Amino acid sequence: MDVEQFRKAGYQAIDRICDYYYSLQNRPVTSNVEPGYLRQHIPSTPPEKGEDFQVIADDYQKFIVPGLTHWQHPSFFAYYPTACTFEGMIADLYASSTCNPGFNWTSSPACTELEAITMDWACQLLGLSPDFMNSSGVGGGAIQNTASDSALIAVVAARALYQRDHPGVKMEDLVIYTTTQTHSLGLKAGLVLGLTVRALDVKAEDRFALRGETLRLAWQEDEERGKKPFILIATVGTTSSGAIDNLPEIQQIVRNHPSLWIHVDAAWAGSALSCPEYRERCHLSTINELAHSFCTNFHKWGLVNFDLSTLWVRDRKHLTEALDVTPPFLRTTHGDAGTVIDYRNWHLALGRRFRSLKLWFVLRSFGAEGFRRYIRKTISLNQQFADFIAESDLLSLVTPPSLALSVFRLEPKPKSPDKPLLSLESLNNLNKLFYGRISARNDILLTQTVLNGVHCIRFAVGAARTEASHIKQACELLHKEAELTLEAWEH
Ligand code: PLP
Repeated sequence: MDVEQFRKAGYQAIDRICDYYYSLQNRPVTSNVEPGYLRQHIPSTPPEKGEDFQVIADDYQKFIVPGLTHWQHPSFFAYYPTACTFEGMIADLYASSTCNPGFNWTSSPACTELEAITMDWACQLLGLSPDFMNSSGVGGGAIQNTASDSALIAVVAARALYQRDHPGVKMEDLVIYTTTQTHSLGLKAGLVLGLTVRALDVKAEDRFALRGETLRLAWQEDEERGKKPFILIATVGTTSSGAIDNLPEIQQIVRNHPSLWIHVDAAWAGSALSCPEYRERCHLSTINELAHSFCTNFHKWGLVNFDLSTLWVRDRKHLTEALDVTPPFLRTTHGDAGTVIDYRNWHLALGRRFRSLKLWFVLRSFGAEGFRRYIRKTISLNQQFADFIAESDLLSLVTPPSLALSVFRLEPKPKSPDKPLLSLESLNNLNKLFYGRISARNDILLTQTVLNGVHCIRFAVGAARTEASHIKQACELLHKEAELTLEAWEH
């Protein structure tokens, strides 16, 4: 393809993307293809001779689009959102057009410098302490692939620090603390690093948040057994229910244990910190005093196209000391002089994409005000949903709504006081049936979860095109499905 052919193909691609967005609302949310469908359409060997690009572009429409789940669909309420924006798409196009692996300052100064600046912007947008800013010269932020990478890196840094301060500590004695609600990233980090992970219990009456006393007891127990907890992965906004660990209580406990690294995973909920009214609920001031590292994914609820996970550390040298490997071919004058950031030492890989460009485009185009408007809108849409559940005689909230997430289940109110309530096991079976019906539909997508043995369904708002009318539609649909489930259950 030459430049003029690219121009033509590029115009067509943009036209088709626009058409896709115009048609999105009328498409099913999920695909109806069967596993293995693509092998029927795509040869099992690569072509020997190059093909006409128009045929390739058409095949994308014919074979790939029908197999997509439409995460940007306004009736997508599953997992957590990946709210993407046209600004981000354009930035990604520019970034891939120059294809810079910007791993150190010299390899592409703009990549490093824009990342350092936009990470400071994001830090301020979220109200994080200036200690975390790159301009502080001590702390700093780097863009990672995912929150799982961010947590893994935090564990690597925490382990190196602990080993430095406790020479001779045995690897088998080291323990990573998580909770039963921590994302799989905690277990993954343990798996990758060969470290023990201890998941601390949380209770429904605490809204599934980690309490200080639980941490204290676990610590005491581990100390008695000669174990060495060295990091706690706390969560602000868990995946299952949006739980927010009780950081102020945790802070009281870790006062006596300063060697415990606190990593705060706010992969989803971090974006809410942009709004002052949610900062207290998310324990921002404790994060600012306590956290050694903090992560949020702008690619979830932050309007930036996948992937863009932001990780800040209070002291950058804990990252670079743990991760610096500098063979001669990576040495540069500026790197040797220590006058620049070399981001290759802030993450696992060497090469890194030019992702700050999309953060820059999005934050400039929306402004802090536009960003907050989007967050507030999604939270109020979730409130609309939660109000519907609260008023329903068939459905009930399993735990109070958290920001833009509600967790509910089918739990019919007894028609008369003498009618026995369903047992937990029956309710769970009823909800499996209910979720089975919902997931068989292709006009809406929700995900299920289990909270301390209770089967329930998550409703996460955040797709950038979701409006009140889509929430209303979802409520009506869920009510109907609840009625049909009960009918099937009773017969
Ligand atoms: N942490 C939380 C709280 C999440 O909800 C998720 C994903 O939903 C993750 C981490 C994982 O994020 P990533 O895919 O960026 O690793």
